[in-house]
Amino acid sequence: MQSIMRLVILGAPGAGKGTQAVILSKKLQIPHISTGDIFRSNIKNETPLGKLAKQYIDSGALVPDEVTVGIVKDRLAEPDCINGFILDGFPRTIRQAETLDRMLEELGTKLDMVIDIEAGDDIIIKRLTGRRVCPECTAIYHLRTSETARRGICEKCGAKLIQREDDSEETVKNRLKTYHDQTEPLISYYEGKGLLVRVGGEGSAADTTAEIYQVLGLTE
Ligand code: AMP
Repeated sequence: MQSIMRLVILGAPGAGKGTQAVILSKKLQIPHISTGDIFRSNIKNETPLGKLAKQYIDSGALVPDEVTVGIVKDRLAEPDCINGFILDGFPRTIRQAETLDRMLEELGTKLDMVIDIEAGDDIIIKRLTGRRVCPECTAIYHLRTSETARRGICEKCGAKLIQREDDSEETVKNRLKTYHDQTEPLISYYEGKGLLVRVGGEGSAADTTAEIYQVLGLTE
């Protein structure tokens, strides 16, 4: 039985957090919690939260901590998180990380590991501007590597693929700046707690998965 199950996946936008979180969530049978996906689903459904979040997301800024923290708190209290979870895209600031520590303490638990997926800015810019996503089932494709992306129809659910508005080059550059200013300090934060493990994010998704499986002691 796998014992490490409360995980955070860190990394710049486009490092591959979402892709790896989906794979791990299936493998470990624990929920994948993506704050970005939660915001996008609210934007799609035109909820008040979606309207608020959109202003920040479209410019590459972070949604305010007060808003984001509440969403994660509610999600972590749901029963399916009892056996673990994979947080993808949260925390993104030191303040969020400290709040997460407190939330988990209140729930009588703590993080087991923080996996940092490392990739340089140049690779990320190429990757994100060529990314195409399914607005229905959130599947992710890339123009360079995927015939499906070039065809523009999701192979999982048949919906028309889109480019996320925040994947335009200008917004990607803003997102990277936001990452370096506000999220990168989390690497030292978690290193100081002895929780951080680094894996490479510049190769293929399969290479990164293999490294993650190795650090988690999982077999293919
Ligand atoms: P992602 O899909 O994780 O790249 O998130 C897309 C966007 O949602 C980010 O660029 C932020 O604007 C917003 N967002 C996602 N997670 C957070 C978070 N933990 N704190 C603040 N903003 C967030």
